[in-house]
Amino acid sequence: MEYRCVECGGRMTTLFVQYSPGNIRLMKCGNCKAVADEYIECEPIIILIDLILHKTKAYTHLLYNVIDPQAPSFQGLLWKSTFGFLLLDAYRSLFLERSKEEWGLSMSFASLLWRFQKMLMDVVFGNIMFLSTFLLSMRVLFSTFPRPLRSGNAHL
Ligand SMILES: [Zn+2]
Repeated sequence: MEYRCVECGGRMTTLFVQYSPGNIRLMKCGNCKAVADEYIECEPIIILIDLILHKTKAYTHLLYNVIDPQAPSFQGLLWKSTFGFLLLDAYRSLFLERSKEEWGLSMSFASLLWRFQKMLMDVVFGNIMFLSTFLLSMRVLFSTFPRPLRSGNAHL
């Protein structure tokens, strides 16, 4: 796993050296000479507060130095959360549909199937459209702004 400096975004091979349990030394970034990731020593509540405050450093810490996208547990979590999100969205769609018109008890199987199919299409296509638009706009946004400096280990 490759880490990033939260100050400048430079690549790091390691963020701290552990001498004994509970005794660590934080590494300094070769690019900006600051402590690469001071959030390692912070309490999770501090990180959560900084995430709520939308601090770039906290997001760099979370996305690059905590979450490992290659880890099988992360892949599993991603699929599970995607499934959970779609299920909750289907429930939301069902709830909205139900508030519009009260469902009778004597509903035929065909109309129930049709409603289920309609709801499934709404949820899946709605989310695909939303995510495509979101990802496309992110790509456009990031290609217009310059990327952070990565000259720290360019000579390696
Ligand atoms: Zn740095």
